[in-house]
Amino acid sequence: MTSVDRAEIRAQLERWRREGRFTPRCDSWLAGYDEDFSRLLGARGWIGLTWEQRYGGQGRGFADRFVLTEELLRAGAPVAGHWIADRQIGPAVARWGSEELKAHVLPRIAAGEARFCLGMSEPDAGSDLAAVRTRAERVSGGWTLSGQKVWSSHAHRATHAYVLARTGGSPTGPDRHEGLSEFVLDLDQPGVTVRPIPDLHGAGHFCEVFLDRAVVPDAWVLGTVGNGWAQVTDQLAFERGGPERVLSTYPLLRLMVDGAGGWRLGELVARLTALRALGRRVAARMDAGEAPVSAAATLKLLGNRFEVDVIEAARGVTRADMGAEDWSRFTAMRAQAQLSAPGFSLRGGTTEVLGVLVARAALEEAR
Ligand SMILES: Cc1cc2nc3c(=O)[nH]c(=O)nc-3n(C[C@H](O)[C@H](O)[C@H](O)COP(=O)(O)OP(=O)(O)OC[C@H]3O[C@@H](n4cnc5c(N)ncnc54)[C@H](O)[C@@H]3O)c2cc1C
Repeated sequence: MTSVDRAEIRAQLERWRREGRFTPRCDSWLAGYDEDFSRLLGARGWIGLTWEQRYGGQGRGFADRFVLTEELLRAGAPVAGHWIADRQIGPAVARWGSEELKAHVLPRIAAGEARFCLGMSEPDAGSDLAAVRTRAERVSGGWTLSGQKVWSSHAHRATHAYVLARTGGSPTGPDRHEGLSEFVLDLDQPGVTVRPIPDLHGAGHFCEVFLDRAVVPDAWVLGTVGNGWAQVTDQLAFERGGPERVLSTYPLLRLMVDGAGGWRLGELVARLTALRALGRRVAARMDAGEAPVSAAATLKLLGNRFEVDVIEAARGVTRADMGAEDWSRFTAMRAQAQLSAPGFSLRGGTTEVLGVLVARAALEEAR
């Protein structure tokens, strides 16, 4: 049992939709960016649910967060402004951050004021994240970061970045998993240049981030210097294991179920039921203090396939299947979903890479 009231969340979101606070859309956790809406959720106590109350959180569990995030995604609410911070950087700061960092950043995230982007990928480090070249150099009282990050979603609107950088080791050598460290960076400083990259949507969210001796104080280092690989691996379980890896196209499915029906939808709904059960198990393991890396990868692998199959089913729906108003909403949503779909299986780890990870974990277990 969870202590969050699903019906209350659903009713509140419906009220906000009717008041015109948002228009439902697909892929709302990455493409639905609205800072005012993030602040509205913050004021309602719906950001930072899992961290302690003294840091602006609600002291609830991941099972509760699962319910809340499911409802936000089902409603197609614009949650991209705070999603990365709420999903993974907040929990990483809560676990690995200094007291000073926690006190500074967590309440601001929970209020919808601090917005994070992820500085993991680089031009030559995507699937092979350990090939990161961005350098961290020791200076008095902290570190400077120099290098280039790419595909950092919403970096041009973010206040802070999570940065994976190299404090030792080499990006190509056998020791490349060593010498990685994690930093929280204030983006409002001279050493940071952010350039948006246009995507299929036109404006979009992708950015390049150039760092030239950008400054990070010691208290903003996450965890132990040099232990970044182990820490980021745990963080990826939080990145991959949530309902957003299943529900990016849910608003489209909902319109089809309400309007068109048909056996193909029955199969999709059955798959969704199984994926939700897996998602709840991942959340329960997070509540038990685990970082369920391979279960989260399995959820993302199967969830992404489901999200794309929803779009595939939508391509078969015709004008005759629903009323005029629903049809216009449906075609707009289907177009949004189709534009976002190429990214589903890339973001957060590609299908091939997750397949390798899941297979390795299964072999390990069988030994
Ligand atoms: C919508 C979206 C949002 C993103 N947001 C962010 C963000 O905010 N921050 C951030 O840091 N990054 C972000 N990324 C980047 C994302 O993490 C990378 O695109 C992803 O890790 C893949 O890296 P790559 O693009 O360099 O492809 P590559 O790693 O070059 O892969 C190219 C192809 O080779 C395959 N491949 C690679 N290695 C193997 C292997 N060992 N076995 C089999 N096949 C393999 C891959 O599956 C893929 O098909 C985002 C990407 C997308 C699409």
